[in-house]
Amino acid sequence: MLSIYKEYTDGVKSMKIIKSPKEMTDFALEAKAQNKTIALVPTMGALHEGHLSLIDKARSSADVVVVSIFVNPTQFGPNEDFDKYPRQLEEDAKACQERGADVIFAPDASDIYAPDASTYVCEESISTHLCGKSRPKHFRGVTTVVTILFNIVRPNIAVFGEKDAQQISIIERMVRDLFMDVKILRAPIVRDSNGLALSSRNKYLDTLERQGAARVHQSLLAGKRLVHDEGCTNIDRVKALVINHVTNAKTRVIYVDVVDASTSLPVQTLEKGKCRISMAVWYGQTRLIDNILI
Ligand code: AMP
Repeated sequence: MLSIYKEYTDGVKSMKIIKSPKEMTDFALEAKAQNKTIALVPTMGALHEGHLSLIDKARSSADVVVVSIFVNPTQFGPNEDFDKYPRQLEEDAKACQERGADVIFAPDASDIYAPDASTYVCEESISTHLCGKSRPKHFRGVTTVVTILFNIVRPNIAVFGEKDAQQISIIERMVRDLFMDVKILRAPIVRDSNGLALSSRNKYLDTLERQGAARVHQSLLAGKRLVHDEGCTNIDRVKALVINHVTNAKTRVIYVDVVDASTSLPVQTLEKGKCRISMAVWYGQTRLIDNILI
């Protein structure tokens, strides 16, 4: 019998919140013994429509939907926003239940990492580019925690958003290289009405900044137009236009690059339909990333 931390029910369907890894695995094994498939949606919480679209995809792909909510300490650098990252489990639980999730797996960091944990999973090619340059141990933390979550939740399917395109490429590579028996599904970027890609970190932006930050998406659109409408295939020109378009008093560009749409590795030639412009900027005090298929 599972000792469920909390059970939500609307009279029709109930959703469990499980905190213990062992109970999560017991639940997964029980579901699998009943021939049910499991889809996992890994998140750090502060859920928005982008996350919820992943739950929809999971819901239509498997019998049991598990949403993990875990602000993973190993993917934050020493001076990053781990402490101030928004945490709102009650609100998230409500949203997950409304969207038809079956389980929230919300462990504490001490449940996941032993005090003397010393084993990591590292992808060493894709993760050296783009965000990997300015966040050196970030992807090591991501691949490690995703592996841990796969081992605990035993999913058949895991759903990730293309908002973090480099992250999906790294996870696809890890799954392939390590023969992990999980199918990775990609979900498209969900945006605000002004084009700003939804992100939990948008909570750091005030109303004016939220409006201004839409220039990140607009600059990507300008880059895409240069390729599609003017037939430009010069990567440096595309990058220069995007940088120029996004720059104002509030923005500091971390990188703009043209990469392979599937692997997220830098490309030498720009091929329509096969490339993505990826970028990261500081908008005031907030680090934003976005990308567009070209
Ligand atoms: P996070 O909670 O930021 O770690 O994100 C959890 C998952 O949600 C990742 O797979 C993200 O790529 C995905 N995600 C975050 N924002 C969006 C968005 N705006 N559209 C689609 N997926 C998203």
